[in-house]
Amino acid sequence: MHSKTIAELAAGLKKGDFSSEELTKSFLQRIKQFDPELNSFITVSEDHALAQAKTADEVIAKGQVSALTGIPFAQKDIFCTNGIKTTCGSKMLDNFIAPYDSTVIHNFNQSGAVMVGKTNMDEFAMGSSNETSFYGGVKNPWDTSTVPGGSSGGSAAAVAARLVPASTGTDTGGSIRQPAALCGITGLKPTYGRVSRYGMIAFASSLDQAGTFTQTAEDSALMLNVMAGFDEKDSTSIEKDLPDYTANLNQDLKGLKIGLPKEYFGEGLDAGVAEKVEQAIDEYKKLGAEIVEVSLPNSSLSVPVYYVVAPAECSSNLSRFDGARFGYRCDDPKDLEDLYKRSRGEGFGAEVKRRIMVGAYALSAGYYDAYYLKAQKLRRMISEDFTKAFEQVDVIMGPSAPDTAFNIGEKSDDPISMYLSDIYTIAANLAGLPGMSLPAGFSNNLPVGLQIIANSFDESRLLNVAHQYQQVTNWHKQIPEAFA
Ligand code: GLN
Repeated sequence: MHSKTIAELAAGLKKGDFSSEELTKSFLQRIKQFDPELNSFITVSEDHALAQAKTADEVIAKGQVSALTGIPFAQKDIFCTNGIKTTCGSKMLDNFIAPYDSTVIHNFNQSGAVMVGKTNMDEFAMGSSNETSFYGGVKNPWDTSTVPGGSSGGSAAAVAARLVPASTGTDTGGSIRQPAALCGITGLKPTYGRVSRYGMIAFASSLDQAGTFTQTAEDSALMLNVMAGFDEKDSTSIEKDLPDYTANLNQDLKGLKIGLPKEYFGEGLDAGVAEKVEQAIDEYKKLGAEIVEVSLPNSSLSVPVYYVVAPAECSSNLSRFDGARFGYRCDDPKDLEDLYKRSRGEGFGAEVKRRIMVGAYALSAGYYDAYYLKAQKLRRMISEDFTKAFEQVDVIMGPSAPDTAFNIGEKSDDPISMYLSDIYTIAANLAGLPGMSLPAGFSNNLPVGLQIIANSFDESRLLNVAHQYQQVTNWHKQIPEAFA
């Protein structure tokens, strides 16, 4: 049962092959068996899940099923869940129980989905390896001496090990696509504004976007159908028609124009990764696609621009964690200043503090023009590179990450080398574009991800392009041996 996709499980539930309760129990059992080693969950919500499964079974018995009814999911611990702890991977929120559901969680609940738990993540979603979590690192199921990627490392590892059929993540600079690549699963980051950010703990508000981890592109479409849509509670959510994202999956790809940015295949790209990405592109040629070389001339600026913009926004967003309102509070504060200083000093981890300091510096009166304003101008130029490229091509392809999964501890003392893990993903966030990572083979027995970037709100095409590849390849069906 655990190797089935959402689509297959939904069909089984509908036919009565098994109940949601049975299904939920079997995944909870796998979590019990395997998660002590992987550490992909912060909270397992067993009672809540079994109650939801019971309700789902009643709905199914009445024949009122929707695509996700009765399917178990794991939710990244960045989405507020009413009555269930939401930590964002931080000591700061170790005691935080939200009094409301984020819109993403609300939408899953409305669809009859079952939440089995909340997944581990880098603290406040800052990281590329899941090593900054207050709850300890997550191991990559393909090789437990390596990282699963980050920041949504728990969500990615849980799907890769088939502890759940699918999960959610968030992607501010690559935190869905990079861990999806390192864990050999399918990851989707939608267009900025497509999925509501309400109740999703903010890291960098102009970049954060919720998305999915699944086995297949078809499953991503099923989840996006539930997650996407206008939300008046999020001022940057877009009021735009919501297509059925499964409607376009089977369109053939004859004449599709694929842009390959020359900047994505140069120095810094591991040879084994490059080879697999090129093989994937050959598959697309066989499917009738046409390859066009494009240029994204400002690509090399995306990491430095991101590391001004994202810390600036985080320094502002995280100022709400002050020990006074919610979250961690230091013992016996002497006065208000002591309360602020010690609560934040003790509640935040090293990477979060580093970002807050960089951000506060970049926004300070004397440096705003030199750093923040400059970064915003460059951000516009990076975005315009894509606008030009999409005048020539339908989608852009390249690697999701420069390398396969790296060893635990390998980059944790070297922030710059860690930051470069997102060199191919960050630009899509700066430009607000949707992107996916698909399993495209293995290099030294570790998964390689193919990245596909589409134009704004072109998720239907993105999913179609991904689905067609998965009709002619089997990489997305591979399960790490120890979890098969
Ligand atoms: N790795 C990047 C960072 O640390 C991206 C994180 C993310 O997308 N949440 O900021």
